[in-house]
Amino acid sequence: MRSDSKNKQFAVIGLGRFGRAVAASLHRQGYDVLCVDSDEEKVAQALSDRVATHARQLDSTQPAALREAGIFEQDTVIVAIGNYVQESIITTLNVKEGGVPHVVAKASSEIHVKLLRKVGADHVVFPEHEMGCTLARSLTKPGFLERIELDPEHSIVELIIPEQFDGRTIRDLRLRSNYGLNVLAVSQDGKFEINPRPDRLLQKGTAMVVIGANNCIDRLPI
Ligand code: ATP
Repeated sequence: MRSDSKNKQFAVIGLGRFGRAVAASLHRQGYDVLCVDSDEEKVAQALSDRVATHARQLDSTQPAALREAGIFEQDTVIVAIGNYVQESIITTLNVKEGGVPHVVAKASSEIHVKLLRKVGADHVVFPEHEMGCTLARSLTKPGFLERIELDPEHSIVELIIPEQFDGRTIRDLRLRSNYGLNVLAVSQDGKFEINPRPDRLLQKGTAMVVIGANNCIDRLPI
């Protein structure tokens, strides 16, 4: 069954620490999660730990095994095989060729990222790299609370309004012309005002959300 609601079905291939974490979180949120791994013990463990709704032992490099297990019927498949590059690439290719609309694959190196994109992964994650960058940013720019990377050059950032912006309006600061940034929201009494007016006064210590190029965001006085 394919829909946008909680009927959405997920499969996780590979039950290492990453795959288990994804499956457990989806399962806790009430989604139907099919987990597979070539290691029988990991499959049994996933079932006994209630990480998955269903779990199967199979070799995901075999298209027939994936078809038979119903993997090709899923809305989203997460290929969580980081350390076995060949298996990860073949599995991703199999799942895309099987017609799965949304395939997320885990990479363990830059070249692995490229290969996964080449074989059709819709979204590639490289958690060790991404987490390392996030940590470095939070250490050097503690005023940035949250960052969503839209593509390698553009982001949406939630930040603490700096001292220099205190008591000034969005128009007054000319954030668009001076910084190339658009303000999406400004926080007020624990809530966000979306699309704030240009005469909205900014207050230091509260939060705002901006969208723009990374090099513009990095010029903010944070
Ligand atoms: P971590 O534990 O750090 O998250 P990881 O996500 O990189 O590591 P791997 O060590 O790559 O995980 O292993 C993921 C799982 O994939 C393992 O449990 C392994 O048994 C399983 N696996 C490897 N090859 C296949 C395959 N061909 N078919 C099914 N499962 C496989």
